[in-house]
Amino acid sequence: MKKWNLFFVFLISTVLMAACGAPQVANEPTKSDSDKLQVVTTYSILYDIVKNVGGDRVEIHSLAPIGSNPHEYDPLPADVQKTTDADAVFYNGLNLEAGNSWFDKLMTTAGKTGPDAPVFRLSEGVAAKHLTTKGKESEEDPHAWLDVRNGIKYAENAKNALIKVDPAHKETYEQNAKKYIEQLTALHEEAVKQYNQIPKEQRLLVTSEGAFKYFSEAYDFEAAYIWEINSENQGTPEQVTQVVDTIRAKKIPALFVETSIDPRSMEMVSNETGVPIVGKVFTDSLGKPGEDGDTYIKMMEWNIKTIYEGLTKK
Ligand SMILES: [Zn+2]
Repeated sequence: MKKWNLFFVFLISTVLMAACGAPQVANEPTKSDSDKLQVVTTYSILYDIVKNVGGDRVEIHSLAPIGSNPHEYDPLPADVQKTTDADAVFYNGLNLEAGNSWFDKLMTTAGKTGPDAPVFRLSEGVAAKHLTTKGKESEEDPHAWLDVRNGIKYAENAKNALIKVDPAHKETYEQNAKKYIEQLTALHEEAVKQYNQIPKEQRLLVTSEGAFKYFSEAYDFEAAYIWEINSENQGTPEQVTQVVDTIRAKKIPALFVETSIDPRSMEMVSNETGVPIVGKVFTDSLGKPGEDGDTYIKMMEWNIKTIYEGLTKK
């Protein structure tokens, strides 16, 4: 096409877009461009689980960006649009997306409320654990995915939801889920095997947020933390003092810091106790694409290895 011709096409389409009131965003795929299911997940770990089950059938937009904290999130205008257009929305539940009620507000704005709305809680069927902080005992702890057996439940829930929304591709979802769940089962067995090599009295895990309740039960660990759950009150002097006392009393040899959390509080604890931070662990977010822990399986493999090495180092 000649240059002036191109310019003419550009001019016409600009005028048309303005006239129709279409959004003036280039390269933004619209629903009609694809026969794929349009899916929204609240954060990166769910993105990856749903991607594994949905395969090529799904196009997923994940809300809280990689490296961020999904307990609190401010949806952008594009998030509202994608949620409004979505064929299915997946969230964790168990109090995860509860900070500032961001998720409930988004569902209301996007018209995704009511019993028939295609909004699916992936933690359905998980036996909830509760917070232990005084006054918060009725609140659920969201971090169920850190026990791989729960990750398997998430994958099954994703499969059932996708079949419900898109029954024509039932077989695809069943096959994808079966393959994925086999990998997750192997991963869980590997974790049990690795951790059985660590003497029970050495299985002590200190992180910033107390995200390891489900993990601790699955792999027989004792967990300590600076604060129990991410909120505005993170790393207060009282919280730091308390964990420092625990570390001294139990002679804990190693500290870990999460990738989605400001490391300064844990650095303070390390300085105070002389106990080193031996590695990063993934809790509320995957790693960036192409980097460590960029899938649910890889993040769990990374955690298993890092915790094993950190606690067995002489
Ligand atoms: Zn968390």
